Amino acid sequence: MPELPEVETVRQGLLQGVLNKTIEDVLIRREGLRYPFPDDLATVAGTTVVDVRRRAKYLLIDLDDGRVLLSHLGMSGRYTLFSADEAAEAPRSLLTTVNGGVPVSAFGGTTGYGGKHDHLEFIFTDGTRAVYTDPRRFGIVDLFSADDEAAQPLLSSLGPEPFDPWSAEDLAQALSGRKTSIKLALLDQKTVVGVGNIYACEALHRTGVSPKRQAMKLVKKNGQPTAALVRLTGCIKTVLKEAIASGGSTLNDFAAVDGAMGYFAHDFQVYGREGQPCMKAGCGGVVRRIVQSNRSTFYCPQCQR
Ligand SMILES: [Zn+2]
Repeated sequence: MPELPEVETVRQGLLQGVLNKTIEDVLIRREGLRYPFPDDLATVAGTTVVDVRRRAKYLLIDLDDGRVLLSHLGMSGRYTLFSADEAAEAPRSLLTTVNGGVPVSAFGGTTGYGGKHDHLEFIFTDGTRAVYTDPRRFGIVDLFSADDEAAQPLLSSLGPEPFDPWSAEDLAQALSGRKTSIKLALLDQKTVVGVGNIYACEALHRTGVSPKRQAMKLVKKNGQPTAALVRLTGCIKTVLKEAIASGGSTLNDFAAVDGAMGYFAHDFQVYGREGQPCMKAGCGGVVRRIVQSNRSTFYCPQCQR
């Protein structure tokens, strides 16, 4: 599942690939994904992309007619950009194949699955295309006026972004009085958005705080953050920024929004390393896996207290 750094990398790739381009047509190959597509999705034809933003794990594509095209990658969504040369031979119709009548794209050789999971295809007036592929179909697409963005149900209840000006004081306020574990509190999108399972594990390991520690214990009685919480806030920002930087380093050319870019491999310090030695210098502990609220948590009992 793409976490915040992956989504941010896709945002940068889309910004590089489709900014200031005018959508000539959009091929819609099914009714929807997790939810039905908006009825007026085809009306993005004729608009120009003026920005690509991100809020939590939602991509927000600003159109020049004052509307916003929202895209969430769900479990397995990804965008692939094709140059005008690559797209020149591709038909513009909804190709129906013998494959059970499933409409497929002409780009299956690149996007995989014979093209049958290429649910949306944006054709730009310069001949380039952006193809959205999503085999598990948990993605979300929505379209609304920018004026209504703050009121969108998907966006209105989200907590703060984990970057500046988000501070340890903000986190302390969110954790005050909460008896749940710090790991689960960090996964709560009202505490902070987009930290996710992997980066919660990584940030707690780097800070030396046990994922089982009660969230409220990281807040002083006067409501101020403890020293550990100040460190944790910094480590959350750092692990996310490092992941974004490593993903961003793959963004060298136009064709960068490919599967490899959206799901780049990282060198995790603790995540997925059950039974292996802790990578902190001089620790000597062994990484353990526990389950918290049906999610795997990886941590080192030796250096995380
Ligand atoms: Zn350790």
